[in-house]
Amino acid sequence: MIKITIDFGAFIYLLSSVIILFLWFFGERKEKFKKKEEDFLWQCPLCFFEYIDSKNKEISRCPQCKTLFKKGEKW
Ligand SMILES: [Zn+2]
Repeated sequence: MIKITIDFGAFIYLLSSVIILFLWFFGERKEKFKKKEEDFLWQCPLCFFEYIDSKNKEISRCPQCKTLFKKGEKW
């Protein structure tokens, strides 16, 4: 009887650690994806036009007013 209880306890322990690992893994992935999507979103400091530019990371050209600007730059 005691042996079964220990086995069951070990099973529950393993199961819960696997579940926690899964939750952590997917939570991390979701956060990374969210951050990446946000990185592609640009807002022109001149005309406030919002667009997605996945090619550039630091400098981008606004498709509306053709202004070249740095990420996070304020005019
Ligand atoms: Zn613009």
